[in-house]
Amino acid sequence: DAAMYYAKNSGNGLHVYDKGLDANETPERLALTAELRQGISTGQLEVYVQPQASLRTGMVLGVEALVRWRHPRHGLLFPDTFIPLAERNGLIPQLTDAVLEQAVAACGRWRRAGHRLTVSVNLSARSNLNETLIENVQSLLNRHGVPAKSLILEITESSVIRDPARTQIVLDQLHSLGVGLSIDDFGTGYSSLSYLRQLPVQEVKIDKSFVMNMLAEPNDAAIVRSIVDLGTNLRLAVVAEGVEDAATRAELQRMGCSNMQGFFLAAPMPLDSFMDWLAAREG
Ligand code: C2E
Ligand code: CA
Ligand code: CA
Ligand code: CA
Repeated sequence: DAAMYYAKNSGNGLHVYDKGLDANETPERLALTAELRQGISTGQLEVYVQPQASLRTGMVLGVEALVRWRHPRHGLLFPDTFIPLAERNGLIPQLTDAVLEQAVAACGRWRRAGHRLTVSVNLSARSNLNETLIENVQSLLNRHGVPAKSLILEITESSVIRDPARTQIVLDQLHSLGVGLSIDDFGTGYSSLSYLRQLPVQEVKIDKSFVMNMLAEPNDAAIVRSIVDLGTNLRLAVVAEGVEDAATRAELQRMGCSNMQGFFLAAPMPLDSFMDWLAAREG
């Protein structure tokens, strides 16, 4: 198998297991994992941000932080190429810390420039939902002068499914800090409804796979409408992701969806471009 292959070729198989690396990674992936570990600690991760706006007022409410890896040889890498690797090889806590640090720091800078914006950060299914995360979040907010309510943590249903009891405890603690909680990719999992009842969430994000085709696919439109109605009845903010055109925005407004995010508003952009984008938009 891949691990044996690697061990044979490097003569260093035991070391692979010592580092806690996944035994099923190919040699290329093992090399990339080592580079990722190094890249995280040397500041190669860059946070891009994608704005979210109110569908009622058009106001920009905040941004979602989306990680990119500025690889020294391969250029800018998208999360799909390295998040799964990070998840399988125990690098998610470091990755999440790096993203949280950049995102919260930016939120603090924007705030001092007079913009009260939320910043949403993705937690992976493998994020350590534990005391350390809570302490990190608390100290980050203090250090950058950001009120807890300006930070929103996005969790997926799969992270909840992995360890529901533990997740509940940590999310309750984050909620007591005042941090916002959002369920990401809503509608793609299996147990959405029971989690909404138990977890202290204030927001659901409708997965872009439903939103992108909702004008052409009546079934997708029905799912979007159901999530909007459910969220509204539970007094949650409902964010539609993947809004790519004005017609979709209009239909979401008709349905009563509260917020939107998508290429129609803006594609993800480097953190440092966001203030210029906002200024240009607000004229
Ligand atoms: P996600 O959280 O569902 O993020 C939304 C993805 O949809 C982003 O892809 C974004 O660029 C893309 N998107 C936004 N608007 C549109 C649109 O109108 N049309 C289309 N077709 N796509 C749109 P991206 O940046 O490649 O991120 C992919 C996934 O990687 C994210 O999905 C999230 O699950 C994960 N990810 C990103 N950053 C982080 C991070 O810091 N930590 C963790 N754990 N996961 C992350
Ligand atoms: Ca997300
Ligand atoms: Ca999503
Ligand atoms: Ca997704």
